[in-house]
Amino acid sequence: MSITVTDVSKSFGDFRALQDVSVEIPTGELVAILGPSGSGKTTLLRLIAGLETLDRGRGAISFHDEDVRDQPVRKRRVGFVFQHYALFRHMTVFQNVAFGLRCKPRRERPARAEIRRRVHELLSLVQLEGLAGRYPTQLSGGQRQRVALARALAVEPRVLLLDEPFGALDAKVRLELRKWIRRLHDELHITSVFVTHDQEEALEVADRIVIMNKGRIEQVGTAAEVYHRPATEFVMNFLGQVNTFHGRATGRDVEFASIRVGVTGAIPDGDVRVFVRPHDFELAPQRNGKPSFAARITRVHTAGAITRIEMTLPDGRVISAELPPDRFAELAASDGDTVYVTPRQVHVF
Ligand code: ADP
Ligand code: MG
Repeated sequence: MSITVTDVSKSFGDFRALQDVSVEIPTGELVAILGPSGSGKTTLLRLIAGLETLDRGRGAISFHDEDVRDQPVRKRRVGFVFQHYALFRHMTVFQNVAFGLRCKPRRERPARAEIRRRVHELLSLVQLEGLAGRYPTQLSGGQRQRVALARALAVEPRVLLLDEPFGALDAKVRLELRKWIRRLHDELHITSVFVTHDQEEALEVADRIVIMNKGRIEQVGTAAEVYHRPATEFVMNFLGQVNTFHGRATGRDVEFASIRVGVTGAIPDGDVRVFVRPHDFELAPQRNGKPSFAARITRVHTAGAITRIEMTLPDGRVISAELPPDRFAELAASDGDTVYVTPRQVHVF
């Protein structure tokens, strides 16, 4: 079931939380909505669910070819999982998962034995088979979120919407759950949209990422696209660390930090901002014919598979590079030494 959002805006009083947002969520994909706090992620998800109404006038939301703009939540058949486990505290795991089925109108309600069968099937899917009789307070945070997911799936939703489902959990559990949700999605193939403000989570888990800022969409693309070909300065800055320079574009070249490098794509002549990711710098002990600028190493820090090198330029500005530790060792350089820095890839806006 694909989801199409067209020219959607949402205001709260005078405040525009979403402005002319359009996005297509293809059938069967796992899509992340990524953006800083307050950028409108939850509002977009709630509009898709039918928990908020769009501003009057323009704008449409459809599931496949069906216009759901004026459909109430119930009719849209979406599964929803929130950040804060909204499990019923007075119900067991089994009762929580069965809830949606038991509440169906009599005509649609499965027989008791069928409900039992389905609940156990779902609990096995989320790997909680043994815990059907427990109450939410007897579960860990990660287990509760898996129950919430099983409960959302019980009514066979057409789409699954998750709002920072792992947001309240600690780092290690988050890491496990994000791998797990990817595997689960690969099994079920249900069109899913999850909101996160965690770049790594989005890049690692999602087929496609929608990047939001101030109520607008900045870019939609695969992890590789948004990371390697950021459409805007915002996306460049938001997805990982970056070094920023002032530069001047002339023709197909850009000049910055006293070097001149070629860029792909056309940019108008004039002042530009140049961005280089820390891992896109090459370091050499001497000039080697490539365009390079001199920098003095001021701090070196190795963590796991990455050595981070902080350097100061002649004008006092600080930049940082990242190399695999063995590459850095080849340089035989340390604090106070001067190295020559060549950008392998630059992004210009
Ligand atoms: P996100 O999920 O990206 O953090 P939200 O969609 O929750 O952002 O909110 C976007 C903006 O809309 C925020 O500035 C928030 O304060 C505002 N907002 C959200 N819901 C309401 C509401 N019910 N009433 C007033 N303002 C709201
Ligand atoms: Mg939110």
